Amino acid sequence: MKHNLSNRRQFIKTAAVAAVGAPFLGGLAAKALATDPARKLGFALVGLGSLNTTQIAPAIQHTTNCRLAGIVTGTPAKAERWKKQYNVPDANIYNYDNMEKMADNPDIDVVYVVTPNALHAESAIKAARAGKHVLCEKPMEVSPEKCQAMIDACKKAGRLLAIGYRCQFEPFHLECKRLAQEKVFGAVKTIEAGFAWTPGDPTQWRLNRALSGGGPLVDVGIYALQTARFVTGEEPVSLAATTTNTNPDKFKDIEESITFQLKFPSGVVANCSSSYAANFNKFTVTAEKGSFGMNPAYNYGGNRGSRSDGQEMRFPNINQFAAEMDDFAQCILNNKPSKVSGEEGLRDVKIIAAIYEAAKTGKEVKLG
Ligand code: NAD
Repeated sequence: MKHNLSNRRQFIKTAAVAAVGAPFLGGLAAKALATDPARKLGFALVGLGSLNTTQIAPAIQHTTNCRLAGIVTGTPAKAERWKKQYNVPDANIYNYDNMEKMADNPDIDVVYVVTPNALHAESAIKAARAGKHVLCEKPMEVSPEKCQAMIDACKKAGRLLAIGYRCQFEPFHLECKRLAQEKVFGAVKTIEAGFAWTPGDPTQWRLNRALSGGGPLVDVGIYALQTARFVTGEEPVSLAATTTNTNPDKFKDIEESITFQLKFPSGVVANCSSSYAANFNKFTVTAEKGSFGMNPAYNYGGNRGSRSDGQEMRFPNINQFAAEMDDFAQCILNNKPSKVSGEEGLRDVKIIAAIYEAAKTGKEVKLG
């Protein structure tokens, strides 16, 4: 069973309003958790598709503070398979229509939303209203309004919200941020960043704007955007963008390729690109006295970093999803906000909206 898209907008509206009246559930529960920092928090995974199956569920097995406690799926056959593979008790198996019942289930602490982009808010708000903390895949949602509704729902419920920006936990990315912000090669001047891949199945939700919110920009271009913001630690003040589409039969209502240019307050310019018709993922940061970067930069494993002075950049390959989930668990156990908060996800979604506006009008867009 799939989500009913026609009811989605109405749901977001009513859920956002209802959340205003939800009780504050944070204080006592948070204190109880903090007394046992070794506790493994129960995660319920929503949407048993490719990412949950191949990355997130296996990654939970490598975490310190998380365990796979429950699932949310519209497909009974998947529920059966997962139940057997991960010993999920019947009481912890939900579908999209009965998620609210999680409110009665203390075995589930966190709901990890891994559905198509335009369905994130629906599950996230249901989870928050059931008193659960929410981890949500990128992009946070397809509009700033829906992101804000998620933030409001979690705030009203006294629950934490974080976005699955796994690269912010990856050692090469952290090192590039350090090199930039400590000005090891002098002040950063330019960033080139890009992520492109070629989705095969033309019927998949990623190629349907109603479910995806856009093309390669929202899917993987967001990694280039994240890199530019993460490495500089700055917010862009203006941007320009161009899209192309050489295959309108396949890419009916999304761009095939996009380039966008971000200007930052310090004068850094980031040239970013993304495409569904090529394969690359890398970035280069150029500063006054040298450069550094990663290639590949955004793989699940096997990323590599380099610097122009010949010094080796060597770090262990970590499981980024395990690191991201453990960090969120630590935030919950210690009652502190995540560095990849809902506000961080909202910032990207606002910038993405501005990038599409710039591409449509052909004009530079100034950001507030
Ligand atoms: P997928 O298509 O493989 O899985 C989506 C799941 O949602 C499926 O189980 C599907 O049954 C379910 N679903 C529920 N309602 C649906 C509907 N109306 N239409 C289609 N599917 C519906 O997708 P995925 O690759 O697992 O991506 C899921 C989310 O994870 C997306 O937000 C994506 O951007 C994100 N993602 C993040 C990373 C990362 O590295 N952090 C990587 C891949 C995907």
